[in-house]
Amino acid sequence: MHFVIAMMRHETNTFSPVATPLASFNRGSRTEGPAFGEAAVQGCEGTNTAAAAFIDMARKQGDSFVMPLLANAVPSGVVTAEAFALMCEAILKEVHKGCDAVLLDLHGAMVVESHDDAEGELLYRIRTIAPNVPIAVALDLHANFSEAMVANATTIAGYCTYPHIDIYETGVRAARTLMAALRGEVRPVILRRTLPMLTHTLRHSPREQPMKDIMDRAMAAEREGEVLSASVFGGFPLSDIPHVGFTLLVVADADRQDPAQRLLDELETMAWSRRADFVFPLESMVESLRFAKSLEDGPIVLADHGDNCASGGTTDQMMVLAEVMRQGLADVVAGPFCDPAAVAEMITAGVGQEITVAVGGKIDSPALNLRGHPLQLTGRVKTITDGIFQVTGPMFTGMQVRLGRVAVLETKGVLVVVCEKPQEPYDTGVFTHAGIDPTRKKYILLKSRQHFRAGFEPIARHIVLVAGFGVCSSDLSSFPYKNLPRPIYPLDADVELKKAILPQPREGIPR
Ligand SMILES: [Zn+2]
Repeated sequence: MHFVIAMMRHETNTFSPVATPLASFNRGSRTEGPAFGEAAVQGCEGTNTAAAAFIDMARKQGDSFVMPLLANAVPSGVVTAEAFALMCEAILKEVHKGCDAVLLDLHGAMVVESHDDAEGELLYRIRTIAPNVPIAVALDLHANFSEAMVANATTIAGYCTYPHIDIYETGVRAARTLMAALRGEVRPVILRRTLPMLTHTLRHSPREQPMKDIMDRAMAAEREGEVLSASVFGGFPLSDIPHVGFTLLVVADADRQDPAQRLLDELETMAWSRRADFVFPLESMVESLRFAKSLEDGPIVLADHGDNCASGGTTDQMMVLAEVMRQGLADVVAGPFCDPAAVAEMITAGVGQEITVAVGGKIDSPALNLRGHPLQLTGRVKTITDGIFQVTGPMFTGMQVRLGRVAVLETKGVLVVVCEKPQEPYDTGVFTHAGIDPTRKKYILLKSRQHFRAGFEPIARHIVLVAGFGVCSSDLSSFPYKNLPRPIYPLDADVELKKAILPQPREGIPR
């Protein structure tokens, strides 16, 4: 057999001012932008990705494959139409030559200038040229579902973990159902319920409630063969598009749909009855920092989840650091903040020199009506580095991280780490590479939602979540949504759970 394998991944925060051109799709690629063909295979081999699982499966079975695209970008704003057109074209060209199946490693929350449903549009285009070729899709836990995605895929599987550590395994699960279909053992049917719930990503971890029981039940149903596969998707709420929601998705054999419907009923009841628990309880930044100040032993991690670059944040919002300093928290390391101009100024001044510099706040966020506010800091330039380090923690272990040039400013008991490229601090290397030992600090101020736990949970005495401002604000009511499906819980009162009507077969290819 011959397969087309491709990766096109992006989580789009439609409120983010951070641009997403083709060059942004360079995660895992050794060039500027995506990798194609043999370079795509090389960039993918041995990694914890669904595409790597597809490659391993093809090789193990002795089948041939091509990988026309490896495109993966850090979450940011809406993707350019040009980038999307080029990435689709790379995949479609190979499908056009003929293949027995298509296996896709996608995210599920990609929004493009030209289409608010990038994944659905890609699947539609594949179906248009290959109406009968089966398509397997692996998706992130934070996928949003359109009709086109579900109708044009043969099977779909989603991650069961957050932080996401089962991405390879998700590829295995998607491929398993596809292969059974190719062998004629099953006829997969995708059954989906999307609930009118806008849920918070900090409530999505399957390690904890309210998600745990729901995910456990879905996984057990798959493991025990009740259904071919079952996935639970929290959805991605920072997306102003018409198909946002909490999705339960089951793949069943066409001849055995009753157990799948019963499973969906059960999962739906669980999720809907827990809807209030999927709302993140907000506390003001001032209150959270006051509480942190009352704690005795450090290190105390202060996690600013309103400006996380891994959810489209600019990483240059300074309000939390300003409040840390106003309340007089001492012995702090903070960062990395992204501000190339401030780095350049500090490098010009030189190590050991006194400087007054405006840090951060250089980027406005017009979608939220947020103007950037730089923080004027006076201090001594402590260290300058090239910003390169190797990850030693459990997330992306061994990978090289490049922060661009880094400058550290020492000011009033605070070490402020400033870099040229945005980077979520999931590894202590962001500080240790600059000679700063975070275990010896009382406070560690980071910009992250969940992934900081990989590197910093083991060294933290306490973790205090701090609701900073920014385009990943945890106050969902502060976003000017115009295109969400309404009514939706918790933004609207009296939301009723209507049982989703199964899509009826339509004329032509659903778009
Ligand atoms: Zn995710």
